[in-house]
Amino acid sequence: MKPTLQPIGSPEQDPDRPNVTTSRALPPGFESVARAIPGLELTTDPAECWTYGYDNSRRHQRPGAVALPESTEALQQLVALCNHHRLPMVGRGSGTGTAGASVPVEGAVVIGFQRMNRILELDPDNRIARVQPGVLNASLQQAAGQVGLFWPPDPSSAAIATIGGNLALNSAGPAAVKYGTPRENTLGLKAITATGKQIITGVRTTKGVVGYDLTRLLIGSEGTLALITEATLRLLPKPPAKATIRALYRDIESATIAVTRIMAQPTTPCALEFMDDQALELIRRQGVKDLPEAARAMLLIDVDGDATTLPGTVDAITTAAKSVGCLSVDRSQDPESAARLWSARKALSPALREIAPMKINEDVVVPVTRLPELIAGTREIAGKYQIQLANFGHAGNGNIHVNLLVDPSDPAQRRAGEQALEDLIDLVLSLDGTLSGEHGIGLVKRDFVDREIGPESLQLMRGIKQLFDPLNLLNPGKLLPSEP
Ligand SMILES: Cc1cc2nc3c(=O)[nH]c(=O)nc-3n(C[C@H](O)[C@H](O)[C@H](O)COP(=O)(O)OP(=O)(O)OC[C@H]3O[C@@H](n4cnc5c(N)ncnc54)[C@H](O)[C@@H]3O)c2cc1C
Repeated sequence: MKPTLQPIGSPEQDPDRPNVTTSRALPPGFESVARAIPGLELTTDPAECWTYGYDNSRRHQRPGAVALPESTEALQQLVALCNHHRLPMVGRGSGTGTAGASVPVEGAVVIGFQRMNRILELDPDNRIARVQPGVLNASLQQAAGQVGLFWPPDPSSAAIATIGGNLALNSAGPAAVKYGTPRENTLGLKAITATGKQIITGVRTTKGVVGYDLTRLLIGSEGTLALITEATLRLLPKPPAKATIRALYRDIESATIAVTRIMAQPTTPCALEFMDDQALELIRRQGVKDLPEAARAMLLIDVDGDATTLPGTVDAITTAAKSVGCLSVDRSQDPESAARLWSARKALSPALREIAPMKINEDVVVPVTRLPELIAGTREIAGKYQIQLANFGHAGNGNIHVNLLVDPSDPAQRRAGEQALEDLIDLVLSLDGTLSGEHGIGLVKRDFVDREIGPESLQLMRGIKQLFDPLNLLNPGKLLPSEP
């Protein structure tokens, strides 16, 4: 099936009221029983429900009800009730996901986790945090920071995104290049399956190999297998020293070649971000003044470690960054200028939205040595379809946010965007890459999944879904392609 760019106010919505989606009525008896569950707030008010119907993908569907549990017990009762009435359920953190993973199907009950937001335990000696899913990533970092620790996953949305959302999408950020994603930094989970049963996965230890690894199965499953109620997270000691390096290049190709050189030498940076000429222009517009016009691409590199070893690491990375086409490599001398660069980098995605509100935002990954081919290929595709392009992202992981700046309200641009997307997917797969590094599949990318995953593996995945959720009630219509 062809992918579609679907702005608010189109197909699945009420055609007579372009900004109001239709919603199936709740089954009789559901509401009164749900309202009687202790520690659960339920609303069916259309205006309130409306606000729980979208995420950062700009897709929208008003849910039938929104439930806010305060405890696992309340959630379990709610899930059992939904199961009894065959009502679809969609977990929701802060709704910052970009792939429509938390956008409900018609008539669904959205389960918001903002009231399950306690850090249950912080154990510095074992370097563990036990948290509820509604804890914000930034709140955890702040609490862990007070005891000299941090949790490595650091999406740019950390200030507003929840740990539940981070886990369900395996969201990461710049630090993943050195420290990994939630899958590498989560020891165990508690979760409620679609029938209301609690499962406990994983361990509290830093090693463990008993049974199948359900922890890593649930992480990245987009709330389609179970609703996470608690996570035991692996914390790491905060490195005592950090330096930021800025490398500028006369062209994009030179910067991508430098990335492969940096990743081939023995010291791994804790962030290695790539920005192309369009992204640099946006960074200039955000008030970063000292970017020469000759610079057509930039690498923003963080290194961390001991104060004594850090200078050697900076030297090694600087040498690797100075490849052909390099204009300059500078170590940021003061924390403020480094912070300015980083905040401009982190604001790139919203800044692009201002130029192209319905941009196609892909999050593809290739092996790092294929990065030059990926970037060159995306530029060819943009040229072929006459589309403006902005590329930036976590280059150290080979993870690039490819932004096709089209206006889908213009039918010609919309068609060009869809064709360019098809070509992009072919390109990424031909380079041994994958469709999504961190944003997930959700609604937006599910029609491409069977290009990457073969029929045998897909069949196994459908079997797993069936085991966890026999009635297909947990976040239906996400992650896996629709059945043939
Ligand atoms: C400005 C901006 C910057 C961003 N930067 C990054 C980035 O650098 N890296 C990155 O990876 N992403 C990034 N994102 C995307 C997004 O912030 C992340 O995917 C984030 O992890 C989503 O968290 P959330 O709380 O908003 O989850 P939601 O969007 O509410 O939900 C995401 C998914 O999690 C499921 N879910 C939520 N809670 C639970 C639960 N308790 N149990 C089971 N399933 C659950 C939902 O059903 C849905 O499938 C960015 C988004 C924005 C707007």
